[in-house]
Amino acid sequence: MLECGFCGGTLTRRKWHSSSQYKKDIWQCVTSTKKGKKHCPHSKGIPEEAIEKAFVESYRQLCNGNKDILEDFLKKLDETLNESSLEKKFTKLQKKISALDKKKNNLVDMRLDEKIDKETYEIKYTEISLKIDELLKEKSSLESSLDNEHSMKKRLAEFRKTLQNNQVLDEFDRYVFESIVEKVIVGGVEEDGIIDPHKLIFIYKTGLTDSQDGGKFKPKRKNAKKSNGIVTTKTDFCSQASDEDNKLCSHASNHAC
Ligand SMILES: [Zn+2]
Repeated sequence: MLECGFCGGTLTRRKWHSSSQYKKDIWQCVTSTKKGKKHCPHSKGIPEEAIEKAFVESYRQLCNGNKDILEDFLKKLDETLNESSLEKKFTKLQKKISALDKKKNNLVDMRLDEKIDKETYEIKYTEISLKIDELLKEKSSLESSLDNEHSMKKRLAEFRKTLQNNQVLDEFDRYVFESIVEKVIVGGVEEDGIIDPHKLIFIYKTGLTDSQDGGKFKPKRKNAKKSNGIVTTKTDFCSQASDEDNKLCSHASNHAC
């Protein structure tokens, strides 16, 4: 879902400072992390939080006063809500199980009426019982997937109502994001030729494309004043982050005005 704007590779999530209070999830280009920085020199890690906040902002800007766009988004949400391949599978499985149960009962009746001998009965009975056991196992795993799907749909349905009434998304929601966003391209070159590793291009399933400055949404560093660099290899990213902090502040104060 996340694609590198420089090499076209995918992005992978890494945990930084996973044991400290500064922990965060960072998305990085696979080419750069696995093959080496020189294979994708312009890409940089971007905090997950920045992508999430940029999405909320992108959504807000697109929907703001534009009913058509909102309607298209709601349609996409509905499509996700109506997908129910799991439920069909579940019904089919239940039918199979009850058919086998019936067969088992018939077998017992036949044995009681002495229509089949004991040996045939036992072979058949074990065969059917094994099949039923197998299907029951399948059923229980399907049940838990269905539970997940139900809770996801419930949340999406709630969101549908919220979106319809207020037309805004207060905070990031993964289900809404996955329902309406096709992919996000991270990093790119601006019109003036400046390379921006934090440029975010949201490509929506409705065909819309929206560009956001991911640098604006990066979380403020909690350890900004400390210089005891917890992980030395991250200096590159950290120095960048402190530049961005100023941007974030000025942006925030503009907003307040
Ligand atoms: Zn790359």
